Amino acid sequence: GGASNADHAVQGTCNDAAVSRESAARLGYIVDPFIQHFVKPPQRRAPLINRGTYCRFHGVQNTLCQFIQALGATAQSSGQIVVLGAGFDTSYFILEKEGMSVGKYFEIDFAEITAKKAATIYRQPSLKSLLPKDTEVALGGSELHSSRYSLISGDLRQFQSHLVPKLVEHGFDPNEPTLFLSECVLIYLDPEHSDNIIDWITQSVSNAAILTYEQIRPDDRFGQMMIDNLRARQLELRGLHAYPTLESTSQRFLSRGWHSSTAVDLAVYHDRCLDDSERVRLAKIEFLDEWEEFTLLAQHYAFTFAYSKDAEPFQMLCPL
Ligand code: SAM
Repeated sequence: GGASNADHAVQGTCNDAAVSRESAARLGYIVDPFIQHFVKPPQRRAPLINRGTYCRFHGVQNTLCQFIQALGATAQSSGQIVVLGAGFDTSYFILEKEGMSVGKYFEIDFAEITAKKAATIYRQPSLKSLLPKDTEVALGGSELHSSRYSLISGDLRQFQSHLVPKLVEHGFDPNEPTLFLSECVLIYLDPEHSDNIIDWITQSVSNAAILTYEQIRPDDRFGQMMIDNLRARQLELRGLHAYPTLESTSQRFLSRGWHSSTAVDLAVYHDRCLDDSERVRLAKIEFLDEWEEFTLLAQHYAFTFAYSKDAEPFQMLCPL
């Protein structure tokens, strides 16, 4: 029926994300030796897309690393990371390879996606060898479980009824400091469903933070064009729920009782949060002459970093 076609279209979006990431990795914008295994065939993206992918990757990795380092600095208990709609995100493997691990790392997506991810991991020694030794395959190959990493299948629209019990069964501890990550996922959920997740976090996890990276400003001409473009590639995508402004994305968390929330669009992130030496390095990889277009595009994506309580380790972080 219609609903399952729409779900299928949403699942397809993780290939797009992986193709862009592989393009940026192959050209040397980012270091991700793992993403190639999830992409067939590779495609070279335009310079402005690669630049955007770089910023997105930089912001996410920076936040994950700051969190893990802050845990060490405060000698906190070991902490947790929960990736909502993880798709083919390779961050777990990148961190693991660097010897940067948290107490428990959870990834969640539809079973169709987690099954593909698990199969790819098992096929590639470079990925499989980074799984904890006690990893077990479950649910017909759609889940992986171990003491430190779990790949969980399910629908984020049934977060409380279906996914929370699975998280708990596999060791989620609401008393651990927990960082949630959501990259281009909430836009596909009705606000009712994403608000349910956000509210569950504040009500149930004593010390939590979330980093989201989502499209914003869908209503101006460029924003409309981007949404139409997304729909054209994934015909079945109907409801796309982007917040209208930077203020509203950050206000979303404050109005639901979070302690602190900061939102930065990607254009500002590019100008403010990268080192000069990094920008020089990027310019050598590919010349970017479409600055106006890049800025316009980048103004339509934003990071939001919010935390629920004025406590360590999150009050020590400054990712944006
Ligand atoms: N976060 C990954 C990244 O940045 O590479 C993937 C992003 S992709 C654009 C969106 C992901 O969200 C897809 O993998 C899709 O399957 C997942 N997703 C969307 N709605 C979902 C839902 N209701 N339940 C579970 N996963 C969902």
